[in-house]
Amino acid sequence: MSSTKTPNQATLSIWGGETEHELYERSTQVPVVHSVSFGYKDIDTWHAVALEKEQGHIYSRNTNPTVRAFEDKVKELEGAAAATSFSCGMAAISNTFGTFLRPGDRIVSIKDSYGGTNKLFTEFLPPMGIDVTLCNTTEHEEIEAEVAKGCKMLYLETPTNPTVKIVDIERLSKAAKAVGAMVVVDNTFATPINTNPLSLGADIVIHSASKFLGGHADALGGVACGSEELVKKLYHYREINGATLAPMDAYSLLRGMKTLSLRVERQNQSAMTIAKWLQDHPMVDHVNYPGLETHVHHDIASKQMRGFGGMLSFSVKGGLDAIKRFLPQLQYAHMAANLGCVETVVGPPVVTSHVECTAEERAAAGIPEGLVRYSTGIEDVEDLIADLEQALASLN
Ligand SMILES: *Cc1c(COP(=O)(O)O)cnc(C)c1O
Repeated sequence: MSSTKTPNQATLSIWGGETEHELYERSTQVPVVHSVSFGYKDIDTWHAVALEKEQGHIYSRNTNPTVRAFEDKVKELEGAAAATSFSCGMAAISNTFGTFLRPGDRIVSIKDSYGGTNKLFTEFLPPMGIDVTLCNTTEHEEIEAEVAKGCKMLYLETPTNPTVKIVDIERLSKAAKAVGAMVVVDNTFATPINTNPLSLGADIVIHSASKFLGGHADALGGVACGSEELVKKLYHYREINGATLAPMDAYSLLRGMKTLSLRVERQNQSAMTIAKWLQDHPMVDHVNYPGLETHVHHDIASKQMRGFGGMLSFSVKGGLDAIKRFLPQLQYAHMAANLGCVETVVGPPVVTSHVECTAEERAAAGIPEGLVRYSTGIEDVEDLIADLEQALASLN
């Protein structure tokens, strides 16, 4: 962008990635280019594009105009030099590990990472000769001590799923830099509206675009942003391994992202109001939300987040039995394994993030059987509270 004022997130949600390229036949919207290949009339131009000496596209597994616009929008929102996309969030994560980790390398992370990521750590990386150390999520000193022993990568996620714990990206990035380790942050829960990990010292920021970025639960996608050098390596790994984002999904995500800033601002506000309301409810034991002063790391959240996000969780009295009665009473919430969309979505970790764990493992992870993960939608907050009120009343 050429304006002298640095545009803010609301402006970038709309214009990011959409001003650089000339659009088809003067359309104001990014066209969906379904073409698998791009044709040339002379070999020299084709060759120059193939060697990346000239701008253009060759084959849509590598690059595609619609997908490029999506990557550029996220790149601008994250304040990154470059971005590359993937078929889904897990592809972004597994391709990042595939690009940068080799047998004998060590990765340090936290116990509360996303379920799929945790499976990579426990099931798939160790047989490839990668040493994985998972630390207690909120123990910054423990994470620093493990990093100080030496590692190739520090992998973080904040806020975490489903107990919305917060880790200090700036502090831990310093520890990683001291031993020459790269820092990767999954920013799916915070969104670029609330946190920009690269500005706090991270090297790569990853999103499951299927959640808040797209916002409408109708397209899967993933993206990773960082320096030209690192993203080039990631792009090369993905173009050969083939976890490519489809043009139609890129279009749905681009369209969803135009309202990203509006949606997330509303979700920040509503989640805060709902968290405070739940805290005072007699049927509620505990509320996890980084915006509450009672949250253990409210201070870190206040420092690294512009808003506290749309995700919260709370436990109701009566455990899983109570949840089985309470959740179906909600009129304005999908019971589903998803989050970050315009509709409110609820689910207990027992069938969402921690479905593979035993009750004992969930207890050890600090997840009560009566916990509800609540992804605040953009409905009117008074309606959401009235809905919670009538559903909780059914427990008496
Ligand atoms: C959903 C999610 C992922 C995985 O993304 P997919 O698009 O479903 O592959 C990764 N990290 C977090 C935090 C998520 O919520």
